Amino acid sequence: SAKAQTSAAPVPFDPLMRGAIERREALEAELRTALADNEFELFYQPQIELRTGTVVGAEALIRWRHSERGYVSPAEFMPVVNTTSLSEDVAAWVLETACRRAADWQRRGYAIRIGVNLAQSQFATGDLAAEVERRLAENGLRPELLELEVTEDIILDDGAKTLRVLAALRALGVKIAFDDFGTGYGSLTYLKSFPLDKIKIDQSFVKRLEPGSQDAAIVAATIDLGQALGLSVIAEGIETQATASLLREMGCDEGQGYLISKPIPAQEFAMKFLRKEARLVA
Ligand code: C2E
Ligand code: MG
Ligand code: MG
Ligand code: MG
Repeated sequence: SAKAQTSAAPVPFDPLMRGAIERREALEAELRTALADNEFELFYQPQIELRTGTVVGAEALIRWRHSERGYVSPAEFMPVVNTTSLSEDVAAWVLETACRRAADWQRRGYAIRIGVNLAQSQFATGDLAAEVERRLAENGLRPELLELEVTEDIILDDGAKTLRVLAALRALGVKIAFDDFGTGYGSLTYLKSFPLDKIKIDQSFVKRLEPGSQDAAIVAATIDLGQALGLSVIAEGIETQATASLLREMGCDEGQGYLISKPIPAQEFAMKFLRKEARLVA
């Protein structure tokens, strides 16, 4: 029929659009090879207790070691990874690599908490809690040294399922952090109904923090809210000493940002931030 013919007709492609799709497919193929060839690497960014300046954690952040382009930022390739079938494989690699690293540091006497960013695909398929339980056991990692970061997009996808999985993860003793807090629409609802340990205040509120500003009011209110709910609060994107001081005065528990360090390779992190003193008290 005429109808069938219409739907079978080739889609009239905008040449610019086709260019974009082809580039995306090429990137997807390259990323698949990158995973197979072990071109991904985790960098670590220190998280400090603001009151004392002690390094208490590290967020694991993925990088792509590209043969020609050097280190590629996840902002460039994770949106592609996370909308393809690659997502589950990359997520599994990130989780395993971070657990192995944390367990290695734990064995050497540096009990440091490692933050891992989760992807939506990890909630959609399989049993994330069982996977995490197995990786903790295989690596001999203490559960409280693993902190899983979730964003609002993940919760939005299937709230009921996410709630079940997060509850199961928390029952293992793993920590749950709400990443990029304040950038979504339902943040307060989620604080009420999801099993969380920590709020990560998004860097967009922190970067230009000035006393008396709107950002300062929002940050102060978030810190109070976190405290009232028994959650720990960390500010992301601290770039100046003035910001760190202001956050400390506001009672913010922890901080992370370029002021302390950019994300760096594991060996460099160990040299700079895992100290003998930490080992003695661990
Ligand atoms: P995120 O989880 O919110 O990570 C924080 C981002 O802020 C990181 O960017 C970090 O390098 C950057 N940052 C930290 N402190 C500062 C600062 O003081 N100033 C500025 N301007 N930026 C700062 P990065 O490493 O490029 O990662 C971007 C995003 O990519 C992450 O945001 C996260 O959503 C995603 N991502 C990174 N690694 C992974 C991963 O292993 N798995 C998943 N699913 N997502 C990841
Ligand atoms: Mg994060
Ligand atoms: Mg964040
Ligand atoms: Mg972010």
